[in-house]
This record gives sequence, structure tokens and C-alpha cells, in this order.
Amino acid sequence: MTTTQQLYQHYLQHPVISTDTRKIAPGGLFFALKGDKFDANTFANQAIGAGAAFAIIDNPEYQLGDQYLLVDDVLLALQDLARHHRRQLNIPFIGLTGSNGKTTTKELINAVLSQQFNTLATQGNLNNHIGVPLTVLSINNSHQVAVIEMGANHQKEIELLCSISQPSHGLITNVGRAHLEGFGGVEGVKKGKGELYDYLQNTNGVAFINGKDPVLQEMQSARTLNNKIFYGGGDNPLITGELIANAPYLALTWTNNQTQQSSNVDSQLTGEYNLDNILVAICIGTYFNLSTGQINAGVSGYQPKNNRSQLMQTASNTLVCDYYNANPSSMAVAIDNISQLKANKKVLILGDMFELGDDSPAEHAEVIKKAMAADVNERIFIGESFYHQKDAIHAIFYRTAEDAITGLKADPIQNATVLIKGSRGMALERLVELL
Ligand code: ATP
Ligand code: MG
Repeated sequence: MTTTQQLYQHYLQHPVISTDTRKIAPGGLFFALKGDKFDANTFANQAIGAGAAFAIIDNPEYQLGDQYLLVDDVLLALQDLARHHRRQLNIPFIGLTGSNGKTTTKELINAVLSQQFNTLATQGNLNNHIGVPLTVLSINNSHQVAVIEMGANHQKEIELLCSISQPSHGLITNVGRAHLEGFGGVEGVKKGKGELYDYLQNTNGVAFINGKDPVLQEMQSARTLNNKIFYGGGDNPLITGELIANAPYLALTWTNNQTQQSSNVDSQLTGEYNLDNILVAICIGTYFNLSTGQINAGVSGYQPKNNRSQLMQTASNTLVCDYYNANPSSMAVAIDNISQLKANKKVLILGDMFELGDDSPAEHAEVIKKAMAADVNERIFIGESFYHQKDAIHAIFYRTAEDAITGLKADPIQNATVLIKGSRGMALERLVELL
């Protein structure tokens, strides 16, 4: 069996990792992971053929020579290797989790800190038990700060991801109604996300805490966190700020309460909920001694390109593209946001929210209620879960996205500001070409 130490020696010689034979890094290490539908042990020789230096496998049947390294469990070996590598890196690791806004906040923190440091941040949304180790293993001696997104949909996942990435600093963006099924309700989400605070408590790490958020306040005060930096409000916050404009993009004024210096900054983000995401990025920039100019350059330079609260102008409409994902909390803030926008005509296109378990009917009913009360001109609901509740509601309901496409072709939307939001599985980006 190959030990973590031995794997680490190979990794130092070949510090590029791949897990997909279609994207083999020549001269790198191929980890043969198991998925629901495949067992990559069977692809190991293909990986070697494509130029991988070594294939890490856990089925001896596929060990065809010296380039095949046998371990007990490939996933655990990958995680152990990342854990070991992390211990050798003596730089700040900022770990973040939360129900909503992780990727946006991670990008903002990275945009700010990269004004001063050579940073490495999680690519895209690689935030799970595979993505976090891969992210850690992409960090090298040239990096000065790492920003690691950690996602979870069940208990003990954040604990595992903390044990791998060992954050020296961390934050929870918020705790809301997401992944309720796997976590077992909102209390379960609090406990699951709280594993980050637990880790920071046990290691004396620094927690950045949104002092305006009552749930985070409750969670932090139930623990003994020795290094707390507040932002937004609460106990002696380092940074406070408020919006000075919200349409089409947020602009804010913020204050460093240590120096009493205030500054204004324009962002390229829409959605008032992004204020908190921006404030923590400013707080972390301030904590790491960046200048006001650097912080503002980071915030104003960040342009979302990932279908999270992204504005798009088409020939006929202004779209608020938020179809990357959805859950009850993010639906609520997105609906509030479009309600507040000033426009002649406003339309909601909302797709089903997944992973809600038994709460699903009630949560969809709640969104319908909120959408019907919102200051918009038209509401379109798409998906089975919404469709079940269409009786007596004066709105358009489509059972599937395909039906919606047919409907929108027959009756196009024009001259409107349109919010498009639904769970990833709804793939509402399919509607964009009709809008
Ligand atoms: P995922 O769980 O898919 O990784 P995430 O936590 O990384 O999601 P983002 O991708 O940054 O979150 O944002 C997804 C959506 O969540 C946004 O488009 C917006 O609708 C909503 N959102 C972002 N920030 C907040 C916030 N601070 N509070 C509530 N909702 C938010
Ligand atoms: Mg994310």
C-alpha cells in the first residue's frame, strides 16, 4: 500500500492532479475516484496512456505496473494528501461556508486580497469533499493567501472540510433555508454550518462575524471564540456600511471604525443581499491591512460572470440572471430585490427549488405567496412542485421548462425587467434566448 508520505513525495514531483480522464494533466497524478455511475479504477490505464505520471487506484486488479499506486481508498487518500500538504503551507487560509452567497463572497474576498497578495481561491464552485482537497492541492509556495469555499448538505461535512483545509480564518455568510432535507431542518443547518465556528474555536482561529445577523450572533455566543472580528454591526465592529444606491448596481459607503475613515464604492453587483457579501470582503481586506484604495479597487472591479445576480441586457428585456441555484432564503431575497427595483414592467420567472424534503410543498407555497404579494406585473412558475399548487392562483404555471419554452415563444415578454431563478436542476438558462 502506498502511504500518504509516499504519495506526497510523488505529488511534490508531479504537483498537478486530475480525476477525469478527459482532462488528464500530462505528468500529473490521476486519482481514480468512484462516482455513482462509474469506477475510475477502470480508467486508470487510459489515464496513464494519456500521459499521467501515476494513477492512484484502490482495486489491485487494475494495477498494471509501477505507475499504478495502490491505496485503501482513493477518496480518503486524496483527502489525506491534501491535509498533509496544507500542514506544510504556512499561509492564512480563509474558509467560508453558509447557506447563500458563498461563491459571491469568495470571489469578492479574492478580488480584494489579490490587490495585495498572490491569492488562490476555490475555482468556480469546487466546494465539496472532492473540490476542497483539489483546491488545497492547487496551492503552492508562491501563494500568500488561500480563500476556500466549503459547501455542505449534511452534518459533519464542514467538519471534514475544515480538517482538510484547516482554515486559520473563517466566516459563515448566513444560515438559511437551504438543503433542509439533508440537514434535517433549520436547526440542523445551524449545527452543520456551526462546525466551522467549532473548528475556529478549537484552533484559536479568527472568525469574521456579521454582527447584524441574529442567527450568527446566537451561534457565536453559544461558543467561546477567542478571535472575533465583527462587521456590519454588533460588538465594536471593524467595518460598518450602508447602501447609497441599489439600482441597477449597489453602491455603498463604508467606515473603518478603528480609523474612523469612511469611503464610498460602486459595485457591479445587483441585489441588496450582496451588501453583506461586500462588507465582509471589505472587513477582511482591512484586517489584512490593505489600503482603502486597494479594497475599493477590488470591490468595484469584481464583475459576476456566473449567473448569480448577474444583469444582462437583451434586445427586448433586462434580465436578472439568478438561475444558478435557488432555495427558499435566496428566493425570498431575490423577490424582495426585484420588488424594490424601479422599472415599467417587472416579471418573475421562478423554477422549482430542490432538496427540500417534506418541507417542499410548504416552501413552494410560501414562495408563491411572496411572489403574488411582490410589486411585479407578471409571475411565471415552472416545475412540478409549483404546478401542484396552481389552483386559484392568478399566475402562469408551466409543468416543465419545455412547456415554458413553448409558452414564451407563443407569448413573448418584452420591455420588462425579468428575474429568472430556480434550482440548478431546472436549468432555466434554456429560457434566456427567448427573452
Ligand atoms: P452554492 O450552495 O450553490 O455553492 P453559494 O452559497 O455559493 O451557492 P452564490 O452562488 O454566491 O451562493 O449565490 C447564489 C444565490 O444566492 C445568489 O444568486 C443570490 O440569489 C443568493 N444570495 C447571495 N448572497 C446572499 C446573501 N448574503 N443572502 C441571501 N441570499 C444570497
Ligand atoms: Mg457556491
